[in-house]
Amino acid sequence: MVTTSADRRERIAALDYDYASQPKQALTACNLCGASEFVVLTHRDRYGYPAQAHACRRCGLVFLNPRMDAEAYGRFYNGIYRPLVSAFHGRLIDARTIQDEQRDYAAERAEFIRPFVGKSGGQTMLDIGGSTGVVAHHFAREFGLSGTVIDPAPLEVEQARGLGLETITGLVEEHDFDTRRFDVVIICQTVDHLLDVAGTLARVRQLLAKGGLLFIDIVDFRAAYLRHWSVEDAVKIDHPYYLTEPTMAAYLRMSGFEVLRSDFAADHLHVSYVCRPVVAHADGLPHAASVEALLREVREVQSRLKA
Ligand SMILES: [Zn+2]
Repeated sequence: MVTTSADRRERIAALDYDYASQPKQALTACNLCGASEFVVLTHRDRYGYPAQAHACRRCGLVFLNPRMDAEAYGRFYNGIYRPLVSAFHGRLIDARTIQDEQRDYAAERAEFIRPFVGKSGGQTMLDIGGSTGVVAHHFAREFGLSGTVIDPAPLEVEQARGLGLETITGLVEEHDFDTRRFDVVIICQTVDHLLDVAGTLARVRQLLAKGGLLFIDIVDFRAAYLRHWSVEDAVKIDHPYYLTEPTMAAYLRMSGFEVLRSDFAADHLHVSYVCRPVVAHADGLPHAASVEALLREVREVQSRLKA
């Protein structure tokens, strides 16, 4: 079946999701550097919703602004998110169908972290935003770890429980782990969905056992706009954040993580990092030249016709 952009618009309209009237909050300070001077990159997202992506002029962090509040995002994930992505792609994407894709990704990424996990002798693993548990299950089996998944979506957590993982329905920022610490923490295809990246990384830093490992990946914003030569196509209301290699490196440095290895995934979209806890650098921001280069490239993509 050939699906046109008119079909896509119709399918999205049929969901009758009123994004414009969802409760939102305006962000006045950059989550990475705290500055308050932003430049508007886009006025619509890939679904056609009136969502603006802003870039911080100081550090180059890109984020939706304003963006839905936590409750509106809660409702979005409980009812709209998967149907919306299905409408966009013109095929059913739900907690079950995503598992095949996640299985392949898990197998590929397990090879990426294997040299580090093997040496660490870790026993426990926490998967933040672990969805249906496919990745945690694979890592647990490969590396002999006991896996825990924390995710706010009850239906997805149920699937994770079915795989024999310990599950927590909730958010890592809010859940009380008491004195529990984990040898391995994974944040897989999740960081772009968070509402507070700096806060979550600070929390993870506390939850990581001494000598522990963090696996984290981003959708590289540059790869996302370069592949379709469209900045609007790279922006979607499901992602409050749009990270790049310089901004993610800065987040990790400033939250107290040293990158042991970084790598591009086979999908040419995700960039992965394996990190260990170190002393945080307060002054680890991206260089001004990388911010300028990003803004210049965005303008170029927006102004030059697709090849
Ligand atoms: Zn900033």
